[in-house]
Amino acid sequence: MGAAGSKLEKALGGSLNYDFMLAIRCIEVSLWWISVNVWISGKSYYFLCKHGCALYFCVPFREQLLEYYSNNKNPADAEENLLTCLADLFLQISSQKKKTGVLAPKRFVQRLKKQNEIFRSYMHQDAHEFLNYLLNELVEILEKEAQATKTEPEGSEKIANGPTNISSNGSPEEPLITWVHKNFQGILTNETRCLRCETVTARDETFLDLSIDIEQNSSITSNLKNFSSTETLNADDKFFCDKCCSLQEAQKRLKIKRPPQILVIHLKRFKYIEQLGRYKKLSYRVVFPLELKLSNTVEDTEAEYSLFAVVVHVGSGPNHGHYISLVKSHNHWLFFDDENVEMIDESAVQTFFGSAQEYSSNTDHGYILFYERLITGSTS
Ligand SMILES: [Zn+2]
Repeated sequence: MGAAGSKLEKALGGSLNYDFMLAIRCIEVSLWWISVNVWISGKSYYFLCKHGCALYFCVPFREQLLEYYSNNKNPADAEENLLTCLADLFLQISSQKKKTGVLAPKRFVQRLKKQNEIFRSYMHQDAHEFLNYLLNELVEILEKEAQATKTEPEGSEKIANGPTNISSNGSPEEPLITWVHKNFQGILTNETRCLRCETVTARDETFLDLSIDIEQNSSITSNLKNFSSTETLNADDKFFCDKCCSLQEAQKRLKIKRPPQILVIHLKRFKYIEQLGRYKKLSYRVVFPLELKLSNTVEDTEAEYSLFAVVVHVGSGPNHGHYISLVKSHNHWLFFDDENVEMIDESAVQTFFGSAQEYSSNTDHGYILFYERLITGSTS
């Protein structure tokens, strides 16, 4: 661990700032702590640390979390929750003075286990479920706080072009847009066209990440296109048309109405196979580009994104395995595998696309992708 750390330090040389080095070292150390604890308390920690990594290197998220924490920190009556525990962890990393040291995310892990029994078990936890749980918890905490004070949290505002089913007259039902939303939330619009009367019904829904089906030898772009492809609702799955006042055949289409700032794409690599009666891991090769253009949006302009983190699932099955992560920071790609942190070449990212053949010795597959939107001058 110490040797790996100093090796990395040497490799990075003077090209990185001190703060960044410290962050790496601290995360590295905390990962070591986590891997030791896995022995005692089960595997759930792995996902915690991997996401800890990806989220820490999600700079706007980190900055806003720390800003929130410094504005709201009141040791006298501070009620501990997942948000304060995560903020505290990030603060410990970012304010670290020592070059090396042990930084264990004890409070955060304890809080997590206290709050949700899933994370108390020895079961293999899903990284996507964990991320989802964490983001939704953070949102809930911020919303409760806002309700309690009857004012909005720092840096929040009502959304101007939000979902259309929400009134814009400031009614209390209007959802609050927290900084978690500002980073991760996008809006999908679900358009349903009745095939009898041709009426189009549009319903908006928000998302914090997109879960997409994948195909063998495909790309994220083509899988996203399929995600937005037209689906016919018929037979048992007819649509109730308000105009026809009856169930009708219809065509449904999902489009991205408002692309998020941070686009999180979850590749559905775990699929239930009826014949087998269990879940199977799909090792499909799915190319994910470093720069992604989102074209299936309602707006005519393409939203452009840059890849900054990948959570990789290692293993051949859904019930066991390991997670590692790739993170881009200060134009360097870093590879995090528990206590092992290495700098890798950008071209190495493609080794995590998946396998073109069903059986391959490479079981390291990109599972969750984190893209950050590039400022192109056309953002709303
Ligand atoms: Zn109709």
